[in-house]
Order: sequence, then C-alpha cells, then structure tokens
Amino acid sequence: MTQSNLISSIFRKEVLAMSAYKVADATGLIKLDAMENPYSWPEDIKTLWLEALKDCPLNRYPDPEAKALTATIKRLNQIPDQFDVLLGNGSDEIIQLLLMALPSNASVLAPDPGFVMYKQLSLCLGLNYHSIPLLEDSFDLDLPAILAAIELHQPSVIFLAYPNNPTGNLFSETSIRDIIKTAKGLVVIDEAYAPFADASFIDSLGQYDNLLVMRTVSKLGLAGLRLGYIAGNPDIIEQLHKIRLPYNINSLTQISADFALSNKALFDRQTQQICAERMTVFNRLNELDGIKAYPSAANFILFKTPENRANDIFASIKQQGVLIKNLSPQGGLLADCLRVTIGKPEENAAFLAALIKSLVES
Ligand SMILES: *Cc1c(COP(=O)(O)O)cnc(C)c1O
Repeated sequence: MTQSNLISSIFRKEVLAMSAYKVADATGLIKLDAMENPYSWPEDIKTLWLEALKDCPLNRYPDPEAKALTATIKRLNQIPDQFDVLLGNGSDEIIQLLLMALPSNASVLAPDPGFVMYKQLSLCLGLNYHSIPLLEDSFDLDLPAILAAIELHQPSVIFLAYPNNPTGNLFSETSIRDIIKTAKGLVVIDEAYAPFADASFIDSLGQYDNLLVMRTVSKLGLAGLRLGYIAGNPDIIEQLHKIRLPYNINSLTQISADFALSNKALFDRQTQQICAERMTVFNRLNELDGIKAYPSAANFILFKTPENRANDIFASIKQQGVLIKNLSPQGGLLADCLRVTIGKPEENAAFLAALIKSLVES
C-alpha cells in the first residue's frame, strides 16, 4: 500500500479535505495580526505572579474542576449563581466540545464573514454547516435570511460573535433576541471581545433557556494561557462536562489566570488605552484617500482598500516590518479588506506610516 492510500483509507474524508489552520510567522515584525493585547506586566506584578506559581504542585494533576478559578470567573463576570460555567483550553476548545456533543446529522449556523473556527470544526466533525451572509456595509445580521435558515435547517447550534470577528461590529440586539426566541436549538453568544465592547448578553441568561454566553481571556491580555469559558443553564453545561477531558485546564493556567484576573485594575487600564487608540487609528484611517475603515467595538479594525490592491498593500506593509491580516483572499464581503489589531501607540503609528507609503507605491 502506498503512503497516500494508507492515509486515505484511515482518515475520515472531512479530515482529508481540510487544511491546517495556518498562523503567519511574525518573527522580527510588529505583530498586529492576532488581536493580542500589546502590553506586558509591570515588574512588581510579575514578581507577585512568580511568587504565586512557586509552590504549584507540578507533580500532581490539576484540580479537574478548577474550582478556585471558576469561582473567580463567576464573580468577576457577575454570572448569577444559578448558572454553571465550563472552562476550556481556549474558547476554541469549547466550540469543539459543543460540536462534538451533537448528532452526526446536526446543522450548525453562523453569519458570514465570521469566526473561522465555527466552520472549520463543524466541517471536521462532518456536521452540516450553514453560513448566512451579513448585510453589505453595515455587516449587520440579515434577520429575515437567518430566520428562514432556522426554519429550513433547524440548527442545533447558532454561533453569533458579539462583537463579530473579523468585522468588529456589534450585531443589532433586537435581531439577536429574535433569533434566540425563534431558534429551537442553542444560541451561543461569543463575547471574545467583551472587554472592548460596552455590551453583553450575560444579564440575559435568565431570560432564555437556550442561550449560552462564551468568553475568553485571550483578547483581554492572556492569549498565552489558553483559557475560555461558557456560562449557561446547568443542565446544558453538564452535558459538556461529560465529554471534556478531565484535566483540560493545566495547573499553571489555573493559578496564573486566577492571579491575573484578580489584578483587574491592570487590565482595565490597558483596555482603556487600547480603546482610545482604536479611536485614533479609526479616524486616521478614514482620513486616507481610498481607505474605508469600519466602526469597531473590538480591539481591531477592518478596513477596505482600493479595488484589487489589498494583496499588494498587505505585502508592502509587511515588507516595512508590520504584520496585519489579509482577509481579501476570503472574497465575498471581505474582498479588498485588511484587518489591523490595535497595538501600542508607536506600533499603530508604524502601521499607519507603512500603509500610507504602500498606497503611493505602484
Ligand atoms: C479569538 C476568538 C476566539 C478564540 O479564542 P481563544 O479563547 O483564544 O480560543 C473565539 N471567538 C472569537 C470570535 C474570536 O475572535
């Protein structure tokens, strides 16, 4: 048997058809491609953190329920006691867990453009994935189209990122409520960018049996820890606990996240700086001839470049030492679009200077 026959006889066709999630190499570049917080911690906080880690029993398995960290997360997010929380190795893992629990013929629905993992993980598991285009320009939900798709496909899960990635906007709240009320399946409001948005559905958990709210510490400033969480009705969360791996949150993450989240003031300051810079970058972008920046409630900005120039502009900016994200190859509403993560003021200035130079080239 040749190697390729061997592989195709072993792996599912969905896996064979996939390509691995590629992350661009940012070595030597200003990294504004992945919605990371650009700020590190002051030395005194680092010292306290290392102190907290010092006695971590690495020879023992972690607390399988991460009780201390879960309590901290419930307290800081004001998640009422009657709801349960499941932690994941990043919210990516939670998306995967939820999809793994569905029947093999289940449907999953999400808007397009949207977060790539909803589709990637659904297809990998052989589920029926349906994407509904957002409205042009506003990038808001096409409510009639979504309600029709709910009727037609009866999705087991609907994912709505709020704010949305990669467009940055908050969908209409009344549309979301209509969707939650109409859907017979679960609706996951993915609040990965909650720290930068003045909006949340956490307070609405009690109003709907089928609502789950998911968050992550990644965009807040702890992407390296890999920690996400989802809150909702205990009977739903219990099903997810059955299929998660017993020790999915390692000891270092449990201690570090608990420590960091307890230093909330530090992140609040950083988040305020990022939001102030978002305003500056947004205004500067829209002053540029041929550039249209879309309003953002997240820590990144999507912007449109002159027709058929996105690839060249992206390459030129990279050549000048700044890595952003080129979304233009995805086509559709993202044709000609690039996305920049908000960094430190000097990083944003370097990005804007590189963009301006790229626009006059060629
Ligand atoms: C970044 C992102 C995530 C993934 O977060 P992790 O916790 O780092 O896995 C989930 N949803 C959306 C919309 C995101 O942009």
